[in-house]
Amino acid sequence: MIPGPIEFEPAVLQAMAKPTTSHVAPNFIDTFGNCLELMRKVWLSDTGQPFIVAGSGTLAMDMAAANLLEAGDRVLVIATGYFGDRYADLCQRYGADVRILSAAPGETVPMETIEKALATDQYKLVTMTHVDTATGVRIDPKPIAKLAQQYGALSVLDGVCSVAGEEIRQEAWGLDVVLTASQKAIGVPPGLALLVVSQKAMQVYKNRNSVVGNYYADFTNWLPIMEAYENRRPAYFGTPPVNLIAALEVSLQSILLSGMEGRFLGHQKIAQAFRAAVKALGLVILPKEEHLAANTMTAVYYPEGIDPAVFLQHVGKNDVIIAGGLLPALKTRYFRVGHMGSVTNNDLIATVAAIENSLVQSGHSCKIGAGLKAAQDILTA
Ligand code: PMP
Repeated sequence: MIPGPIEFEPAVLQAMAKPTTSHVAPNFIDTFGNCLELMRKVWLSDTGQPFIVAGSGTLAMDMAAANLLEAGDRVLVIATGYFGDRYADLCQRYGADVRILSAAPGETVPMETIEKALATDQYKLVTMTHVDTATGVRIDPKPIAKLAQQYGALSVLDGVCSVAGEEIRQEAWGLDVVLTASQKAIGVPPGLALLVVSQKAMQVYKNRNSVVGNYYADFTNWLPIMEAYENRRPAYFGTPPVNLIAALEVSLQSILLSGMEGRFLGHQKIAQAFRAAVKALGLVILPKEEHLAANTMTAVYYPEGIDPAVFLQHVGKNDVIIAGGLLPALKTRYFRVGHMGSVTNNDLIATVAAIENSLVQSGHSCKIGAGLKAAQDILTA
């Protein structure tokens, strides 16, 4: 129950365990082509260009920046925690002139502040983290993408902790890049960087004056590969992770079974149940307001007076694995629970039970069963 890598479906793991074929074998060409088509459906972008490249989420972030930025371009980074700061660092490597708008932990940057920045300087790119995995804060990307469009900037959504869990409608919302990694709500073991890029952003990349300063990330190398596989033709630039891509096909198909609407609602319900449970136990979540809390994970402050190490150890003894804090300033003051992807109602119930039990074992007085009741009331509604 950590916010990634998540627990994977047996069918996904079985797909990974099949013999590795050549990356130009007919079965694999089909699988790769299918994955690209399925990504458009999950991202809700009929016309975007999907990319599947071996690497982690940071590579996906890197690919967007490397291909869309040239030295001296202005970037506005909207930072709600750890990964916003990473994006600022990354853009600076490409010689961009970066301005960071940082939110206090648990908060978001006000829209007026974003609009003021966009109205003051001409930005090429606006980056934002949909769900900051360090804080569990979720921003609303839709009005930010609209503002970026209005002021002539491209928008990049870091959806590593949100794609296939939180509602995202890339095309309807006008988001230029929506990127993620395989190991969270996509439901595939770590190792794939996944992006869908709008045609507008592809045009900006094609109109560059300078070569892309990162060989592996360069769309020039990858675009012909994606186009070839989608046309069911073999291609080679770098050997693709054949087994991970086989697993991706299975997972994307399974995500689409309930339809994206069903997927979004399922995550909302589980998240709401978990938040209700911790609230009923007298615990406080890190996001300052409920509407800022993610549906893929939750960050919760430890109650006063308990030893985090003892608490986490007890949760582990209950056969549930949760994560500690990540934000340097508050690291020892909160824990994180992932509830995305294949997490079931029963997984959530087991987690709440383990938390209740461990709070008591760590010396905190709370009413055993109160969290379970609050969660059940929502899950069974
Ligand atoms: N962005 C967000 C929001 C993340 O949660 C993470 C990983 N936890 C990353 C980027 C980086 O992804 P990776 O660790 O796969 O490089």
